[in-house]
Amino acid sequence: MASQRQIHVGGVPIGGGAPVAVQTMTKTETADVAATLAQIERVAQAGADLVRVAVPRREDADALGEIVARSPIPVIADIHFNYTLALRALDAGAHCVRLNPGNIGGPDKVAQVVARAKELGTPLRIGVNSGSLPEHLRELEYTNPVEALVAAATGFVELMERLQFTNFKVSMKSTSVPDTIASNRMLAERIPYPLHLGVTEAGTKWSGSLKSAVGLGTLLADGIGDTIRISLSTFHAEEEVKVAWEILKALKLRERGPVLIACPTCGRLQFDMDTIVAEVERRLADYDEPIEVSVLGCAVNGIGEARHADFGITGAKDAGAIYAKGRMLRKVPTERLVDELFAEIDRYYAAGRRVIRDERAAAEAERWLAEHEDETALTPERLAALEAAAAREQQAAGTEGREHHGRGAEGADSGGPGADGAEPGGRGEDGEAAGSARAGEEAAGARRARVAGRRFTRA
Ligand code: SF4
Repeated sequence: MASQRQIHVGGVPIGGGAPVAVQTMTKTETADVAATLAQIERVAQAGADLVRVAVPRREDADALGEIVARSPIPVIADIHFNYTLALRALDAGAHCVRLNPGNIGGPDKVAQVVARAKELGTPLRIGVNSGSLPEHLRELEYTNPVEALVAAATGFVELMERLQFTNFKVSMKSTSVPDTIASNRMLAERIPYPLHLGVTEAGTKWSGSLKSAVGLGTLLADGIGDTIRISLSTFHAEEEVKVAWEILKALKLRERGPVLIACPTCGRLQFDMDTIVAEVERRLADYDEPIEVSVLGCAVNGIGEARHADFGITGAKDAGAIYAKGRMLRKVPTERLVDELFAEIDRYYAAGRRVIRDERAAAEAERWLAEHEDETALTPERLAALEAAAAREQQAAGTEGREHHGRGAEGADSGGPGADGAEPGGRGEDGEAAGSARAGEEAAGARRARVAGRRFTRA
């Protein structure tokens, strides 16, 4: 479930059913305004809705005014230990201040920050990390880390409520994926405030992306989480943004830019799929539209596997085919597949999102594809045909059963054989059901036999 409450960070709504916001954190020294703004520009272009900057020193807080004024997206100041920096960040116009009430110097310091945030109408993010829980929860952290995280977060929420401040979101981060999932599930049940999700110190681009996808993806699939950050050990913050978007796109929570579908390849592959997929992905990065493009390694499954793609290619040794929205467009030499794919995509947009199809070229490509298809492959088209045939057989068998039943009924009317209507296989309702079930089983058995006689070659 989405959080009940909604806040606004700059112009970005968080929680209350708003789209899940993507955020990241700059890796530069915040006081280096030019470098920080350049990185903010890059993450904004990659799709960040919000950006957080570290404010560990006074000069970082001093740089905030210019950064906030020139940033294309709302800026969140990240504060630890020093409540005066939080006050400075608020005064500099930060769109949100993240603080950990556990390390800011006590409730009276928190109260001063809250009072300033209230005056300015600036939201806060209450951030709890597994590595910096309050002293009184340290023991619980060893025995039950999930309860410890949730207790810290709810304790801070209660403090905010005592201060009559509700303009905040909450984050509760752990390096453990299971703890991240369990604690956020528990917290989402207990508080109405928006949740920011992340797996802290997730790791390198490879392992960190996977951990984040599992942890955040599980929560997001449950409807938990209003804003996310992927923490990766890279100086390129835009990589975090790209991963966040892939997670949101995979869950169909948000759309941004193209979606690339590519087969995993197998022993049927006859061309350099790796290079082609990489090239397609590289060129798609120039498109903003949420177009779906499929790359299949061979023609064995026809175009059925990528029926829902807007555009796609399927390759072979010397030639491949381009298709659009489940229909063939044309055959092209393998070395020109990518160029021609993008020519078709550009033509589609130039024509106002209309696929331009040359019927002769399409027919030629269909003939070529039919010649190269594996006759034994259980393509979606063939599977559909098999199912339709089985359904026809079943229907025919059912009709036959009913005819038997009709004759039984006549007998019953006339007081002849079958008058009790109980003999299976043709008399009475039980008899009809049994006859029909048998016919269905026979049809299904025939279908299974046909299917078993073919190699299943779908990717
Ligand atoms: S059979 Fe499937 S996985 Fe193998 S190359 Fe063809 S499309 Fe790719």
